[in-house]
Amino acid sequence: MPAARHVATLERIAEWSAGTRSLFLRLEGDARLAFIPGQFVSLALPVGGAELVRPYSLASNPEDDVLEICVDRVPGGAGSAYLFALRPGAALSLSRPICSKTTERRLISRPYDPGGGIGRPLRGL
Ligand SMILES: Cc1cc2nc3c(=O)[nH]c(=O)nc-3n(C[C@H](O)[C@H](O)[C@H](O)COP(=O)(O)OP(=O)(O)OC[C@H]3O[C@@H](n4cnc5c(N)ncnc54)[C@H](O)[C@@H]3O)c2cc1C
Repeated sequence: MPAARHVATLERIAEWSAGTRSLFLRLEGDARLAFIPGQFVSLALPVGGAELVRPYSLASNPEDDVLEICVDRVPGGAGSAYLFALRPGAALSLSRPICSKTTERRLISRPYDPGGGIGRPLRGL
């Protein structure tokens, strides 16, 4: 079964540094995405005639009106370059929130995990 996709509009950008920025995404129809802090979405990015799929952790609070993802620019990285070139008003296709059962169990039993490899979910946690 194909993964459910959502369409979101890039509402605003917060530039934290030259190489790190947050993208704030509003779902079509002002819909809310139910998620657990620590989950991520897969973005489908149209780059060079292909569709690059890249996962990004949700950095916002589940109660927020908009979704936040925080993106690091990776030198030579096609997906992050695409995201850094976006301007407010751009549309993005994203998956439902994803998180393995193992991670969900770990998140519930250890709500703060500063040693985790991917730092972005910590904002949501
Ligand atoms: C579950 C999950 C959650 C993620 N969450 C986030 C997130 O919240 N924010 C975020 O910025 N990224 C996150 N990532 C990484 C993200 O999905 C992309 O892999 C990253 O943006 C690079 O994609 P790219 O297309 O720009 O680079 P690519 O074109 O895939 O890679 C270009 C080159 O850079 C190397 N490379 C790739 N990633 C890195 C890196 N991080 N550091 C150094 N070299 C690298 C590759 O090996 C390759 O040589 C997450 C990854 C996973 C698996």
